[in-house]
Amino acid sequence: MHVPSIPALTAADPQLAALVEREAERQHDKLRLIPSENYVSTAVLEASGTVLTNKYSEGYAGRRYYEGQQLIDPIETLAVDRARALFGVDHANVQPYSGSPANLAVYLAFAEPGDPVLGMALPMGGHLTHGWSVSATGRWFRSVQYGVRRETGRLDLDQVRDLARRERPKLIFCGGTAIPRTIDFPAFAEIAREVEAVLVADIAHIAGLIAGGAHPSPVGHADVISTTTHKTLRGPRGAMLMCTQAHAKALDKAVFPGLQGGPHNHTTAGIAVSLHEAAQPSFAAYAAQVVRNAQALATALLDRGFDLVSGGTDNHLILADLTSKGIGGKPAAQALDRAGIECNYNTVPFDPRKPFDPSGIRLGTPALTTRGLSQAQMPTLAGWIDEAIAAATKEDEATLTRIAGEVRELLAEYPMPGWSSRP
Ligand SMILES: *Cc1c(COP(=O)(O)O)cnc(C)c1O
Repeated sequence: MHVPSIPALTAADPQLAALVEREAERQHDKLRLIPSENYVSTAVLEASGTVLTNKYSEGYAGRRYYEGQQLIDPIETLAVDRARALFGVDHANVQPYSGSPANLAVYLAFAEPGDPVLGMALPMGGHLTHGWSVSATGRWFRSVQYGVRRETGRLDLDQVRDLARRERPKLIFCGGTAIPRTIDFPAFAEIAREVEAVLVADIAHIAGLIAGGAHPSPVGHADVISTTTHKTLRGPRGAMLMCTQAHAKALDKAVFPGLQGGPHNHTTAGIAVSLHEAAQPSFAAYAAQVVRNAQALATALLDRGFDLVSGGTDNHLILADLTSKGIGGKPAAQALDRAGIECNYNTVPFDPRKPFDPSGIRLGTPALTTRGLSQAQMPTLAGWIDEAIAAATKEDEATLTRIAGEVRELLAEYPMPGWSSRP
């Protein structure tokens, strides 16, 4: 059952409550390998479900447009101070509703419509909001996009420098959604300084690794740091913008009143709790284990003949090109899901297939690390993945069902925050 338990919801809306209960059980029984997902603690779940959702508080602590902020101000200040301490930044804004609006606020703060902006192309591993064509950021700005080298699958910094010199972008985004390698923030900073661009490090995926010391920090290199709070950082769905004092006013004004109205105070409370958790020694151990698990899984997949973009991983994420396995990313991801292994299909750099049916799958280890799995189990996981993909090419449903049972059996040993088998 769901933890905290939901008796009032069950009484008031049994239909919805039943769906929530089933989702909690699904999250318990499946091996969740989507690299942007995690399990938040029960404390974060509790904070996110409080009466703070009842309160309006447009503005910032001490400067609100509504009365009754006696407790909201210290809650938001706590979240801000914890973010500043954890990441070592001058200023933090914890109000962005999610990663995409946080990035929109950055554009609003530093660019005008039609200005040149530079980001990583979505099919190369960037994010929609880094200027991809279908995004508002690609339509309203003159977006220029960089990628990775065909031979290495690694970021092409020469291309970034050439494009920056030629286009003189107002903003340069680094970071992304499918980058298995360490991001060289000092190198980006040097390019940004040369062309007088604002460097934005979008650390949505790796914020927890940075907080836990398992990835270099962009602090001191990037002008602005944008992050979601719900991926490796293991907080509620939300986002933060961090920066030096010089940019604080511009960013705050862009978030409110530039882009948003009232902040989601229940989420702010959840963020505060997760930042407190991320400051504990156990979180550094988790961050190191996420990377250790990803590297062990990558090695085990390579041993089974998988073709990994860039040949492996430095972080929490693996991008596998399934061309050599004779299956597309989408049917593979669907078969894996039937085998109790949840991942997502993903384009690989220079993908010859369509985005809705690409060549790759994206795997990550944050959620399974939170469950307590370690590197010793990664060869078993790689074996299941390999077997399930082979079964998918032969339409062998029995094997997929068998693997799903084995996955469930393994995970029964690893408790999940948010769900308990005991009523
Ligand atoms: C997830 C992500 C975002 C967007 O976050 P949402 O909360 O989904 O809007 C932005 N940038 C990067 C790099 C991301 O990985």
